[in-house]
Amino acid sequence: MKSYRKELWFNIPTRVELINITPQVNQCLRESGIKEGLVLVNAMHITASVFINDDESGLHHDYQVWLEKLAPHEPISQYRHNNTGEDNGDAHLKRQIMGREVVVAITEGRLDFGPWEQIFYGEFDGRRRKRILVKIIGE
Ligand code: ZN
Repeated sequence: MKSYRKELWFNIPTRVELINITPQVNQCLRESGIKEGLVLVNAMHITASVFINDDESGLHHDYQVWLEKLAPHEPISQYRHNNTGEDNGDAHLKRQIMGREVVVAITEGRLDFGPWEQIFYGEFDGRRRKRILVKIIGE
């Protein structure tokens, strides 16, 4: 069995952003040389997500509005977590609902997606260097 590991780094200039990382994951898959197997993609930070959905700008707007209703950033005093001196209590909650990781099957050297599926990085506390892990196993 072959095994491949890579960290992808991001420094998002805004607090919240959703980014299609499918091209980077495809690049990892090419580098790995693996044709049949599984790829795991996970955020390595507890205020960011990796998830799969449609690359459609209206939907991404809807996610941001919905997440802000569920866990508004302001007032930051509403979160006990922020008593630690942080201001990212909302980002931890947003990360939880959008998920930590995805696993995608690799078939004949390709990501074996359903219709319209793409992989996204969800940043909820940006403006600093953060990373995701790509782990691929197979033959
Ligand atoms: Zn925190």
